[in-house]
Amino acid sequence: MFNEVVLCLGGNRGDREALLSRARVELDSHFEVLRFSSIYETSAWGGVAKGDFLNQVAVVMTERSPEEVLHLIQGIERDLGRKRDEHWGNRTMDIDILYFGDQVIDSGRLKIPHPFIAERRFVLAPLAEVCPDKEHPLMEKTSLELLSECGDASEVKRWR
Ligand code: AMP
Repeated sequence: MFNEVVLCLGGNRGDREALLSRARVELDSHFEVLRFSSIYETSAWGGVAKGDFLNQVAVVMTERSPEEVLHLIQGIERDLGRKRDEHWGNRTMDIDILYFGDQVIDSGRLKIPHPFIAERRFVLAPLAEVCPDKEHPLMEKTSLELLSECGDASEVKRWR
């Protein structure tokens, strides 16, 4: 069975655009990619990281399980030089699973929908661009509704 999976990519270290481009190539080789959002430049969230991030959302189709997708995206993060030094810290590439179809998962290793979607403008802006009407299975609101209600005042601008 195929599921539509929504991923959020981002990084604030190294050649950010080249790293995003490499991540997109990796995603293309493992999934059927339906859409990529524009790239957004966003100020660092959480008060630990320094330097603006580039973020992008991808919508892909896959027959893989959520655990398999997690394993795969962690491999891509590793290949692109991710070092897990600080929580919410600087990073070359972070890939999160935002949605996995309409599944709700809360296991030791995976929380889906990703718990911070509604609080982060840098996630909601690209998400609302590529899946405006996608409904959050727990909050029962669309991406556009979540974006319009989001209290996050961080600057998020479309980069290209
Ligand atoms: P982070 O440092 O934000 O990339 O968090 C990575 C950790 O979050 C991993 O060990 C995952 O097991 C866990 N995790 C929980 N839910 C998710 C999710 N929806 N997408 C990606 N990682 C997740």
